[in-house]
Amino acid sequence: MDETRRGLIVVSNRLPYALSRDEAGRLTLQPGAGGLVTALVPVLRNRGGTWIGWSGIESDDRQLQAEAARVLAGATRDAGYQLQPVPLSHAEVEQYYHGYSNETIWPLFHDLQSQCRFDPEYGRAYDAVNRRFAETIARHARVGDFIWVHDYQLMLVGHHLRELGVTAPVVYFHHIPFPSIDIFLKLPRRSYVIRALLGYDQLGFQTARDKRNFLQCVRTLVDGARVRSQGSLHLIRWEGREIRVGAFPIGIDFEEFAGQAAQEEVSRRAWNIHAGLPERQIILGVDRLDYTKGIPHRLEAVRTALKRHPELHRRLTFVQVVVPSRVDVPKYARLKEEIERLVGEINGEFTQGGWVPIHYVYRALPREELLAYYRTSEIALITPLQDGMNLVAKEYCACTLEDNSVLILSEFAGSAAQLHRGALLVNPYDVEEVADAIHRAYMMPSEERRARMRRMRRVIRQQHIFWWVDTFMQSAIAKDLSDFPVLEEYDFIPPERVHPEEQSSG
Ligand code: UDP
Repeated sequence: MDETRRGLIVVSNRLPYALSRDEAGRLTLQPGAGGLVTALVPVLRNRGGTWIGWSGIESDDRQLQAEAARVLAGATRDAGYQLQPVPLSHAEVEQYYHGYSNETIWPLFHDLQSQCRFDPEYGRAYDAVNRRFAETIARHARVGDFIWVHDYQLMLVGHHLRELGVTAPVVYFHHIPFPSIDIFLKLPRRSYVIRALLGYDQLGFQTARDKRNFLQCVRTLVDGARVRSQGSLHLIRWEGREIRVGAFPIGIDFEEFAGQAAQEEVSRRAWNIHAGLPERQIILGVDRLDYTKGIPHRLEAVRTALKRHPELHRRLTFVQVVVPSRVDVPKYARLKEEIERLVGEINGEFTQGGWVPIHYVYRALPREELLAYYRTSEIALITPLQDGMNLVAKEYCACTLEDNSVLILSEFAGSAAQLHRGALLVNPYDVEEVADAIHRAYMMPSEERRARMRRMRRVIRQQHIFWWVDTFMQSAIAKDLSDFPVLEEYDFIPPERVHPEEQSSG
């Protein structure tokens, strides 16, 4: 073993490549886009490292599996770091991924327990697959490597690595919300899951609220765990180990977005979009098809705004982009039908000659077109019922180059913690409040728009995706935490709304 080499091992459910067939029927790999890949690949190349994850191919199909392994080996040569697939069978994908990850943890952790399915088989498959990931890591980790595991599909990997005797630092970032204790208690085998999470050396959450929820679950469910604070980090002492816990809001590559938004092709498309909607403000929603995004509630709010504020008629066009996702799952197919029914109903109610209030786009947009919508829309309406961060909110602000736009943002998006000084915060369940925020945004004078947008852009520019990687890694490796930067601990609940007893207990 090479003791001098301190490489990085990144672990996520999927490898950062998408596999597909080209016109000649050959399997090809396209590098994944997205912030995480942009931020971590340079670090992997620098330090030398490995990315471990599922390739997207089910291992029952041995021929395809062999073909994928060949393609991945080729990609490894070009990528500048190792790609290491974890094989998963069809049944495992069904139970670990579609089942436990997406039908149990995803809805529960987004506070939507009515959408949950609790199946003991799912839990067993999840545990077994997390074990498989840990075994793959253990085979590839060298002494001194730093192992960074990502997201809710892999909460038990740290625990399994400890059981396998791996002593390297293993850290974890939780990209989705962490629920309050009342919700977490509903999870079958909750004590096992919360203790397993303490197998990591550091846990990072998106917001102070997620961190606080996690700590409360630890205090309640883990006997003997002691929590103390050091700056904005918390240290849990348990069974002779010390675990660091912090909030690290994930960012975007601000300069890249702002730069691309200024390019000629984007400007041309932005101009074209608005030329088709003269003398109107565009209000934009962009979401993956998912029940956590609150799209039907938002459409009801638009309907209410048009009812309560007739002066918006012919003056406002709502563009809702829905990116197809999990469409073979009946729940998602039903959501799509509901959205389309509401769009039809509202347009049927309000359309007048030359004005259709809602433009509905159901497809993934090419990058230039997405940025053109960001750039040209005067208002963004981002109202998830619950969201880990919501990058669309940040991307929108980065791309509004004239600073003359308004962001209406759900209190329950993680990004509200950083953007509360500039956004119009709303409760997405309160359709009248959202309707009034739409009216207020429409009426907002330029000066106020600019002041608010500048505040938001400043935070997004400072706390970008590379800042996120650095802060997370530094906090994990720092010996002395006393001088660790104090991160803003904004919590969306204004102090006057907190119960006085809670305030006094801190
Ligand atoms: N996005 C995209 N194509 C589109 C619309 C959106 O690639 O047509 C991207 C968008 O740029 C953003 C991501 O999808 O980076 C959505 O991230 P977000 O955190 O808002 O929500 P998630 O889908 O991860 O829950």
